[in-house]
Amino acid sequence: MTAANEPIISIRNVWKFFGELTALHDVSLDVQAGEKVVIIGPSGSGKSTLLRSINRLENVDKGSIIVDGKDIRAEDSDINVIRQDLGMVFQSFNLFPHKTVLQNLTMAPMRLRKVPRDEAESRALDLLKKVGISDKANVYPAMLSGGQQQRVAIARALAMNPKIMLFDEPTSALDPEMIGEVLDVMVTLAKEGMTMVCVTHEMGFAREVADRIIFMDHGQILEQGTPQHFFEAPEHPRLQKFLQQIL
Ligand code: ADP
Ligand code: MG
Repeated sequence: MTAANEPIISIRNVWKFFGELTALHDVSLDVQAGEKVVIIGPSGSGKSTLLRSINRLENVDKGSIIVDGKDIRAEDSDINVIRQDLGMVFQSFNLFPHKTVLQNLTMAPMRLRKVPRDEAESRALDLLKKVGISDKANVYPAMLSGGQQQRVAIARALAMNPKIMLFDEPTSALDPEMIGEVLDVMVTLAKEGMTMVCVTHEMGFAREVADRIIFMDHGQILEQGTPQHFFEAPEHPRLQKFLQQIL
């Protein structure tokens, strides 16, 4: 647990190298409980690497990452336990294809949190209702549209009762008409107070939801601020150029 006012995520002076390439260049970032942080930046700027470092899907080479008071790099930290508090949603939905929607949602809570089946199922049905697909509980992922699959993926992450949700371009693989239904779920989650770190190119979402927007380029955080600052008074020339290209 973190003490009052201590950030729930604290990233300090983190470096990550892939061979000769510096993917993260001395990155520091604090996220407060309940805060919504949106990360933007060109392709290859290190956004996914930073997000994946938070739950140690990438091992960083230098620096420290503290999540909910636990040093995720410490030898005595159990990353599997830390990951239970970190829900992650990827661009590709990554559902288990041979499990029904309901089973996709109940598996981890039953196995990892030892939740009894009836309780896990009843919570799963509540979550499916929340993401607007309660009628699909017993179908297989392949029967669903991309937007529906991504909503199941969000529900599955929520089924573990995470303290933090990490989103890596959750709408980038979707047909345009399905983007809104996924963003709506994310907006609802944000309004309920979830701590969220989202990599996205959806600037409408960023404007509506973000407490803070982070701009990355070449593995560095070049600028951060409120949506108002970002859209009305961006300072760094590379941010100005990036915004011109995407807006
Ligand atoms: P973004 O998500 O902003 O597009 P990434 O974090 O995926 O950027 O990648 C940052 C840089 O690190 C890119 O140059 C990318 O090619 C490189 N990179 C990412 N993952 C690997 C990997 N597993 N092996 C080698 N290089 C990688
Ligand atoms: Mg990426």
